Amino acid sequence: MGACDVCGSTEGRMFTVNMGNQTGTFDSFECAIHMMAPACEHCGCRILGHPVDSEAGIYCCLHCAKEAGNPHQAAKAGHTAVAVPAHGNAPGQG
Ligand SMILES: [Zn+2]
Ligand SMILES: [Zn+2]
Repeated sequence: MGACDVCGSTEGRMFTVNMGNQTGTFDSFECAIHMMAPACEHCGCRILGHPVDSEAGIYCCLHCAKEAGNPHQAAKAGHTAVAVPAHGNAPGQG
């Protein structure tokens, strides 16, 4: 196992993450998130919780899905409980 794929560090608790056919080696979750976590198609923040999927892409929250013009998700959210992060208050939002 070599250096962290993101920052190049070889110190710390190195671990690997497998996602689909992608594998990364990291020294911290910060680096793992930087490389592996998907980005919201609307606001670009890293999605750390359950993403909101649509045919147009994936979003960090229903708000972003709505803003990006996804009426299906928005309508469904009216009376169906959908597990999403409470406020889209993810770190790294500018
Ligand atoms: Zn690193
Ligand atoms: Zn977003």
